[in-house]
Amino acid sequence: MLRLLTETFFRVAAGAIVAVLSLSLVTPALAVSATAAPLLAFSARIAGDDARTRLIIDFDRKPDFKVHYVANPYRVLIDLPETAFGLKAEELEARGIFSDIRYGTMAAGRSRIVLTASRPVGVVLAEVQEEQGAASYRLVIDTAIVTDQAFQALMEKQSWQEAAAPASAEQTPVMLPGSRADGPFVIAVDAGHGGIDNGARGGVTKTEEKHVTLAFARQLTEALNALPGTRAILTRDKDEFLSLSQRVQLARNEGANLLISIHADTLKQKDIRGATVYTISDKASDSLAASLAERENLSDQIAGISFVDEPAEVADILLDLTRRETQAFSINLAQSIVSNFKDQVLLINNPHRHAGFRVLTAPDVPSILLELGFMSNKDDEKLLVDPAWQKKVAGLVAKAVEQYRSTVVANGG
Ligand SMILES: [Zn+2]
Repeated sequence: MLRLLTETFFRVAAGAIVAVLSLSLVTPALAVSATAAPLLAFSARIAGDDARTRLIIDFDRKPDFKVHYVANPYRVLIDLPETAFGLKAEELEARGIFSDIRYGTMAAGRSRIVLTASRPVGVVLAEVQEEQGAASYRLVIDTAIVTDQAFQALMEKQSWQEAAAPASAEQTPVMLPGSRADGPFVIAVDAGHGGIDNGARGGVTKTEEKHVTLAFARQLTEALNALPGTRAILTRDKDEFLSLSQRVQLARNEGANLLISIHADTLKQKDIRGATVYTISDKASDSLAASLAERENLSDQIAGISFVDEPAEVADILLDLTRRETQAFSINLAQSIVSNFKDQVLLINNPHRHAGFRVLTAPDVPSILLELGFMSNKDDEKLLVDPAWQKKVAGLVAKAVEQYRSTVVANGG
């Protein structure tokens, strides 16, 4: 008997069963072909109080979504396929149960909304409603506070693994930074923030830090690649989220000789301006450095990454030695940058500072964090968004790297 219609079931990520009718003469793949353009979230609102909060987001097409929970702090994650968020900032301003709401790209093809709550929270209802004859689709998320016990139960019930879980550090053997094999001198240029983590925002131009850092990182990569025997790589080359440990791991996987992480944060003290170069230390050099490191280290939390406590490191004399050598190299590069910036780029007082930045924790890659200036200062902001200024500063950093390489590495290795 000829069957004209076959019914195909397939499982979507959410675990829901979706029925698709397809003609037997048409391949199922064609019938279920996904639209390539990202979803568009074009409007949103949030209402409620500190006991119940409702979130409504309107999409141009039906969104496949999945709800997850993460603890410390209490968070609800709404994972979506690639989504363009055409929302005004005030439409999803944190309120009710939620103290912070973020949304943006996680990786290619994945977007996320992160709702951070000050109390344990549960999703009471999560559904998509068809609007006006499928002209648009409304995602409704109802949340309510729950007991801590109930939250733990929700956490345990979900069978979920963060897709972007950081790679295990054990995969890359630790090497003394001064004992690299011959080959190009590799520099990992790390544009701070990205995707769902916007970083700071300029007061005048409203430019987000993640765009400033990427623009500068591109200029720096170009300047470095113009040096002989040098290969500069970007940890991210688009507006996507990378966890701090992914950044470290990417540098190590590439056998990087250096990691330079680029930032342009904001401070409460709007009059403070100028560049700072940070190296790692357990104890911060000052309170400004400590608070900046604390804020930078929140990046993973903003994106809804759950923290698995890393096992305490076994005392290892070789690793200790490597860390110490790496530290000495990092300090050398920092000093080289500061001296190249003198009279060329405005520096803050005591421009070489240190604090516990997680992005600087590679045991065997000398790493610095370059705070180009502050988006909270309007004079700095003007420079930070200026491609000509970026190019000039990138050139000076490249010069500093060249000096570092010829003096420190030649003698130390
Ligand atoms: Zn930053």
